[in-house]
Amino acid sequence: MSRVKVAGVEVSTDHFIDGARVESKRKFPNCSPINNKHIADVSAAGAEEVDAAVAAARRAFPAWAALGPEGRHPLLSRFARAIQDHARDIAAVETEDNGSLLVGNVARMVPRAALNIQFFADRALKLNDGKIESPEVVNHVRFDPAGVGALITPWNGPFMLTTWKVGPCLGAGDTAVVKPPEWAPLTCSLMADLAAEAGIPPGVLNIVQGIGEEAGAALASHPDIDRLSFTGSTDTAKLIGASCARSLTPVSFELGGKSPLIICADADLDAAAQTAAGQYFNAGQVCLAGTRLLVDAKVADEFQAKFRTAVSQVTVGDPRDKNTRVGPLITPQHYKRVEGFVERALKSGVKPVWGGHRHSAGELYFEPTLLDGVAQEQEIVQREVFGPVLTWQTFRDEEEAIKLANGTTYGLAAVIFSKSEERAMRLAKQVVAGTVWVNCFFVRELAAPFGGSRNSGIGREGGNWSFDFYCDVKNIAAMKGSFA
Ligand code: NAD
Repeated sequence: MSRVKVAGVEVSTDHFIDGARVESKRKFPNCSPINNKHIADVSAAGAEEVDAAVAAARRAFPAWAALGPEGRHPLLSRFARAIQDHARDIAAVETEDNGSLLVGNVARMVPRAALNIQFFADRALKLNDGKIESPEVVNHVRFDPAGVGALITPWNGPFMLTTWKVGPCLGAGDTAVVKPPEWAPLTCSLMADLAAEAGIPPGVLNIVQGIGEEAGAALASHPDIDRLSFTGSTDTAKLIGASCARSLTPVSFELGGKSPLIICADADLDAAAQTAAGQYFNAGQVCLAGTRLLVDAKVADEFQAKFRTAVSQVTVGDPRDKNTRVGPLITPQHYKRVEGFVERALKSGVKPVWGGHRHSAGELYFEPTLLDGVAQEQEIVQREVFGPVLTWQTFRDEEEAIKLANGTTYGLAAVIFSKSEERAMRLAKQVVAGTVWVNCFFVRELAAPFGGSRNSGIGREGGNWSFDFYCDVKNIAAMKGSFA
């Protein structure tokens, strides 16, 4: 068994299969983006370990499903409590592993993770209450467990984003095989320990560590999975989708974005400036970030001055420092990708309003950047950078705002600032996005639907939408008066 100490916390670097730690001979290196130092060598699964994990999940499925929502509820509640009780450790390891802000992990991400487990355990209790009656028949609508869920997650919030899948998957009565991201695999390993500590039976939650193209691909193409839920990039989703199409495995995809942040002339410009500056948090490595600023030309100068002041107060540096708002990019490879986008844009004549270079905080830190003079069809407007890089465009009327907002292949989120409810709702209805925030950002209600349109995803999660995916929904139509 291999364990490392990260941020003072002991973490296993092995897989978790059928309730036991399993080591692979092959390892992959894992570095901290804070200083690009090596922190662990992690077991790298191939087809053999993935097979073992899927088989364990398959064996555990009948008993877990048979417990019913009532039988699973106390175990999942204990799991949620264990996450909350270990919040500080989880947050510290996550920050070390992926460079996300420690304050954000403590205050929001880990509590949300615990809530993800509790919310779906609670909601499952009421799932099978549905009845649709006609004069002749009673339709009993049932949400039956579907089987084994394959859950593949990204590095920008691995612990929280994995619980967003594990919660409804286990709550529904399915068992799970998780493939955490290779750039930040450690907190999912902690999750396995907490599940075991809470009494979740062996085989119900399995974790296989590994490289996407190997372990991830082996899981996505496995013939014995019943659902595949993926959060990550659009390019990877196309590969996974092709794999799942061969076996007709249902997929749920939460993908990338290039979301517009629309600032109307009647907006509270101070609040809008604060929200715009917030798009740089976590170095812009946030799928939902409003990275395309669309500003009414009438208030463009006034807004930009306020935005500049707000950005000047954003601290770039060590994500463990409570005052930091912009930490590092995850790896040198990702840093080069972000830098490449900016360099190509600048070469084409785009103007930096601010930023555009490496930040003095260290090798993987990039300055908060705003680029002006961009054309809608340009790469910097069309492609997800996943760094602290925003573009600046102005509009003359609502029609132009909507044309610019909808002028990419994505449709994950949109943010609108306006004091007119009528205008805000009119714009919100026309924008193509799974989530539209009006005069706010990042407010997430677990009962509400979440997902992306177009290249930003397939399907919706949250509330009963998650159970639509993780369950086999069945209708039992019983003829009235036909029973003795
Ligand atoms: P990625 O697509 O590179 O990787 C995501 C996961 O897929 C990782 O676990 C990886 O190992 C695995 N993977 C890679 N290749 C695979 C393959 N061929 N088969 C199976 N699995 C494979 O994405 P990333 O760089 O880890 O994450 C960043 C992306 O995720 C961004 O596009 C971001 O917008 C998106 N994201 C979306 C949401 C959302 O809710 N919509 C949330 C967070 C991140």
